[in-house]
Amino acid sequence: MKALIVIDYTNDFVVGSLPVGQPGIDIESRVCQLTKQFVDNKDFVVMAVDLHEENDAYHPESKLFPPHNLRGSEGRDLYGQLNTVYEANQEDIYWMDKTRYSAFSGTDLELKLRERGITELHLIGVCTDICVLHTAVDAYNNGFSINVHEDAVASFNPGGHTWA
Ligand code: ZN
Repeated sequence: MKALIVIDYTNDFVVGSLPVGQPGIDIESRVCQLTKQFVDNKDFVVMAVDLHEENDAYHPESKLFPPHNLRGSEGRDLYGQLNTVYEANQEDIYWMDKTRYSAFSGTDLELKLRERGITELHLIGVCTDICVLHTAVDAYNNGFSINVHEDAVASFNPGGHTWA
């Protein structure tokens, strides 16, 4: 069994307060295509979406990045057509808030995958060298096989993208 994890493909991360910019925009149609493909195939699809609270002085990212993906903000909405795909298929997509880079950190993702007998993960979204990478490392350490779709991940840092 396999699952698709769509990571942080939100307004803030594509064009907003912490933007990937053009490389992030360029993967929009492929991200949507893969999401629809997995939904149509009845595979487990997870929207792993960063969630931050305003003025959270204790969060480690507060010292590193400007505020992004704040609870209730438009910046946290899925970017472009992915929002439409999500709204049309909400019953078949698991929306999962996450507060750290990795989609496994502090979430019930591993439980959801194990109870479905899923062993194969497909990762798409942004940023290749931050949240996608951290999720891939945790997936590796937890014994999942990993497919990072090169044509559906992006970063603001071209060197980091290629390396990751
Ligand atoms: Zn964040």
